[in-house]
Amino acid sequence: MGIIVQKFGGTSVATKVARERVIEHIKNELNSGNQVVVVVSAMGRKGDPYATDTLIDHIKQNDNRLQKREMDLLLSCGEIISAATLSSMLHARGIDNVVLLGGQAGIVTNDNFTNAQIKTIHPKRIYEGLEQNKVVIVTGFQGMTDQGDITTLGRGGSDTTATALGVALHADMVDIFTDVNGIMSADPRIVQNPEHLKVITYEEICNLAYQGAKVIHPRAVEIAMEEQIPIRVRSTFSDDEGTLVTTLAEVKKRAKKSNINERIITGIAHVPNIAQIKVYAKEGQYDLQLRVFNAMAEHKISVDFINVNLMGVAFTVHEDELDQAIKVLSDMGYEPQVTRNCAKISVIGAGMAGVPGVMAKIVKALTDQDIQILQSADSHTTIWVLVHGENMEKAVTALHQAFFD
Ligand code: ADP
Ligand code: MG
Repeated sequence: MGIIVQKFGGTSVATKVARERVIEHIKNELNSGNQVVVVVSAMGRKGDPYATDTLIDHIKQNDNRLQKREMDLLLSCGEIISAATLSSMLHARGIDNVVLLGGQAGIVTNDNFTNAQIKTIHPKRIYEGLEQNKVVIVTGFQGMTDQGDITTLGRGGSDTTATALGVALHADMVDIFTDVNGIMSADPRIVQNPEHLKVITYEEICNLAYQGAKVIHPRAVEIAMEEQIPIRVRSTFSDDEGTLVTTLAEVKKRAKKSNINERIITGIAHVPNIAQIKVYAKEGQYDLQLRVFNAMAEHKISVDFINVNLMGVAFTVHEDELDQAIKVLSDMGYEPQVTRNCAKISVIGAGMAGVPGVMAKIVKALTDQDIQILQSADSHTTIWVLVHGENMEKAVTALHQAFFD
């Protein structure tokens, strides 16, 4: 008998039919003799009555002046509704359970409201519930400060709740249930038949997730990785066994057993809504590079895709921060040249280091489709290209075809 943490995302708890599937997955683990801790997200997506985005919109329509501490009070309600709903349905089917808020489950965070970090977990009440043979339902995405204020953990926070609890409880497995059959070689919303990755290392999925693959939050992966708690990403709506996230040693062992070659490329990820900024140095502006990046840092504008050369600098910012970046640069007397609506596409694979021809393949795949590369960069595990936003889907598809077909 072990402890299994099961996290159910927004679509998994959105409808009664979906919640029936959730209950099937809970029952399966109970029938196998495991103790079950369930972490739930708020029900549904933007527009659904109790979804997180709906709560945010509600405040926008009411003068939009809610302070961060109180915003967290409001945001925590989505998961509470979800947990209470599931609790009722479980009781109706004779499954004893108890609901714990993040704070009651012992999740202590700092007071960085709306984006709090977990400091420690005291899972006493979770153990009490489990000892009483109850399913313990924990509201995802939230914790509590030492002062007793409710906090939320930022986007993807329920994934973090699940893996952090997995670590605190020394769980046998953290199951991340979602609306796809596991981790794919590209977003299935863009690429028609992506490869289903049966097993992947913590580093590989972390990398994919940081580069935009939203299937699991990278922070959640890092937390599990530290204690090597296995994660499975799988679908609520099927019995597919999903993708196992584990150590490199384990991945190699399995590959050897089933005679699979190590892959060069893990997957393709994308990030839309970024803008490219170029600033050229005029005569005498010898310290332009330093001044530009200092100014961005001072205004807490995060920059990416940095390219410094004798002529000046090029970099990208998220579109949300573009107006501020332009203002800062203009106020300094520079004339930034801006390309709006770009997308960053990443080709990711720990096996690409030292393999010749990967970049050539990328350039060929894109130029064959008349897709202009605005900028590129590389590290030993990733090659990034910046393209116009309208080419994003075409570029992801072309690159996927080049490496996976
Ligand atoms: P949840 O509400 O369950 O947390 P998310 O929307 O956060 O669900 O994550 C699931 C989504 O992640 C999928 O619907 C899919 O479109 C997207 N996704 C992006 N990249 C990938 C990938 N490489 N593999 C699988 N899913 C991906
Ligand atoms: Mg998610």
